[in-house]
Amino acid sequence: MSIARIQFRVLCLIFLALSVPAAETTAAIAIVGGTVVDLEGKAPLENAVILVEGERIAAIGAAGKVKIPKDAEQLDASGVWLIPGLMNMHVHLGLILPGKMAAELANESEAALALRMAANARESLLAGVTTIRLTGETAHADLALMRAINKGQADGPRIYSAGEALTITAGHGSKGSERNYDGADELVKAARTQISAGAKWIKILISGGIATAGGDLDAVLMMPEEIRAVIDAAHRFGIPVTAHSGSPTATSIAIDYGLDCVEHGYFLDRPTLQKMKEHGTWLVPTIVVSQPATEPFFKAIGSPPWYLARRNSAGVAHWKALQMAIEEGVKIALGTDQYPHEPNDGTTATAREAQYYVDAGMTPLQALRSATIEPARLLEAEAEIGSLEPGKYADIVAVNMDPTEDIKALRNILLVMKGGRVYRNLLEQ
Ligand SMILES: [Zn+2]
Repeated sequence: MSIARIQFRVLCLIFLALSVPAAETTAAIAIVGGTVVDLEGKAPLENAVILVEGERIAAIGAAGKVKIPKDAEQLDASGVWLIPGLMNMHVHLGLILPGKMAAELANESEAALALRMAANARESLLAGVTTIRLTGETAHADLALMRAINKGQADGPRIYSAGEALTITAGHGSKGSERNYDGADELVKAARTQISAGAKWIKILISGGIATAGGDLDAVLMMPEEIRAVIDAAHRFGIPVTAHSGSPTATSIAIDYGLDCVEHGYFLDRPTLQKMKEHGTWLVPTIVVSQPATEPFFKAIGSPPWYLARRNSAGVAHWKALQMAIEEGVKIALGTDQYPHEPNDGTTATAREAQYYVDAGMTPLQALRSATIEPARLLEAEAEIGSLEPGKYADIVAVNMDPTEDIKALRNILLVMKGGRVYRNLLEQ
């Protein structure tokens, strides 16, 4: 990252520190008796006490080593494993896919969209996902929702949003005749518009995609000078850029211009993945969208035949690309491109995505990290979230087995705490 970007971030942090009101003081909560999973691969902490004060973790230690205040509420977590809240780095809370779903939502008003997104945010949180990155929404309902959640007016995960994704006319994700951007000047203006509205990322669509009928999945649809200009414009504001890309060529060009993250990577080959590794470029695989577990979902939403064919053709290459990315040690953060809570093979899209990572070559610990501390690093928020440590936000999830032994542990979420507040508690059942 450039010095300018770091300096900008520091200024932002100082500004935030001055502008965010102090959290309300609530009685402390002590989560007792659980096993705290170690994300560095060390032995877990058994019979632990996690003391939560206000929004943050005040202390973690073995029973007897942490002083529990007299008035603290106690949550009995004996027999369960405690991990950081899950994170999903490729989400559209207002997702509309081709077929029946698109037909039903064809005339959705912006007000209705915002309410649908708020409902999805709440469901995401109840599924154990305490932080999401939004990679393309409409009408800035995402930014309004982010602010509402931050103010406590709505329940949902912490939101990091790219605002509206920047599409080119006729490109993947393009929106009829409106709101597409062509040429460096229009893209630069569009990126700055998102940033001024409050976007924390810029999302560009540089190659073809599954959900648009036209255009080769592997084609470099955005021109190199357009890619360069938009990345440069965002980086000057300290804002990272992520690209929808299935294409090795498009990805390689964008990496040369400083791209921070690649979404999907359907057809990525080994040289491109090695280049990503070398440059520290992130990959958010969204593997679940192209694999067999989601077939019933796509059929249920009435996906047209062209869409299913396109998805299946990409699936084989996508799987190989993920396997190679893991082998090459590319930085991977979990993302689904489905609602985080979307029912999928008897669990949620988020849990199923993590399970696919293990099938593709990750250890369960690596897969757990890809859903917790790695996304926190992608967001440059690892000082605040992503692991269970004193001083960080108390975003805590409980599962009924050790996820570092078996990632299927994520299939059953027993407790969801975000910022010290309990949103779901099945511990006593
Ligand atoms: Zn997407």
